[in-house]
Amino acid sequence: MRRLRDLDPGARVSRPPKAQWRAPGRVNLIGDHTDYCEGFVLPMALDRECVIAVTPGADDRVKARSLQLDGVVDVAADGHDEPRTIEPSWGRFVAGAVQAVTERGARVPALDLEVSSTVPTGSGLSSSSALAVALTLALADAGDLELDRRDAARVALDAEVRATGVPGGLMDQLASLFGEAGHALLIDCRSLDIEAIPIPDDIAVLVADSGLPRTLADSEYAQRRAACEQAAAALGMATLRDATIDQVRNDPRARHVVTENARVLACADALRANDINTIGALMLASHASLRDDFAVSTPELDLLVDLLVDAGAVGARLTGAGFGGCVVGVAPLADTDADAVLARVSARYRTATGLVANAFVGRAGTAAGHTLLR
Ligand code: ADP
Ligand code: MG
Repeated sequence: MRRLRDLDPGARVSRPPKAQWRAPGRVNLIGDHTDYCEGFVLPMALDRECVIAVTPGADDRVKARSLQLDGVVDVAADGHDEPRTIEPSWGRFVAGAVQAVTERGARVPALDLEVSSTVPTGSGLSSSSALAVALTLALADAGDLELDRRDAARVALDAEVRATGVPGGLMDQLASLFGEAGHALLIDCRSLDIEAIPIPDDIAVLVADSGLPRTLADSEYAQRRAACEQAAAALGMATLRDATIDQVRNDPRARHVVTENARVLACADALRANDINTIGALMLASHASLRDDFAVSTPELDLLVDLLVDAGAVGARLTGAGFGGCVVGVAPLADTDADAVLARVSARYRTATGLVANAFVGRAGTAAGHTLLR
């Protein structure tokens, strides 16, 4: 049946999207479970990103589809829907972002959103923050809310916490909003100062996904964060940022945070000096600390670190929150040689575990932003 619209010579057959917003995922070179302790992190934005095409919608609703996940999301544009009740569950990010920008004064109009992402979901490369950042930028723009990049990171974190209930830190959002091609970002999570440090061309960043579901991740993450807050409180401090190694020597969780902060700063120095051997050694020490002191590794992540080093990486570590997800390593290789190393690692991992380790050479991508379609 022909719809009335098709008979109207002035109507377009399909409305072209007005704008696209994009936001990259990230891989963290070093500095995990430090961001929420106001510590230091050294991530890089990836050249894999979430893209949201925005068109006008109807009936005061924000509707969204995803090319990766099923279901049609349909939430109130005024932010009154409780994010944690929304189905399909990825729509919680949409409702969380609508609420987060609305509370800061945005007036979100009716919109149709199409989400498309090349960040693998649930791998520890922060597809969730890529989505939350892209949503925040799209909805703030549509709702006439001006945000600088640090504010946008805070709003995107707020959206993600509303969606998931997980009390995350700000690293992923800042990495997505401040990424620079070919650079890692040294972020001070207290001052939010950010320094982009070039990654030398002859250092390949290797990323391998353990292929494990991160089922325990959310509750364990909250427990680790609480342990850090208790340790800081026992020292009379707001966070562990200023704790010294002597103060936390007998508390493995706090010890991880304090030693990891020192490793991040040392790694940033080594990156500036193109000293891959020191970078590699610090990554291995970081992994040992996350495994032994912070207790967030898995046998599969430990195996992937060993396999990467066997295959020629100078160092490797789990990256992100742990309990599954990815490892990251560095090798003094051109990208094509690095691909061959990763193929060997994946084959050996499959033989040992039966799991498929999707692996790739990580390239630092550019910051989240706006792209006009025409
Ligand atoms: P990670 O951030 O490590 O990729 P998370 O479990 O934190 O893993 O986030 C994955 C969730 O983010 C998905 O289950 C989904 O809710 C949301 N998400 C990520 N990418 C997309 C996408 N392309 N379309 C819809 N939802 C997405
Ligand atoms: Mg995530």
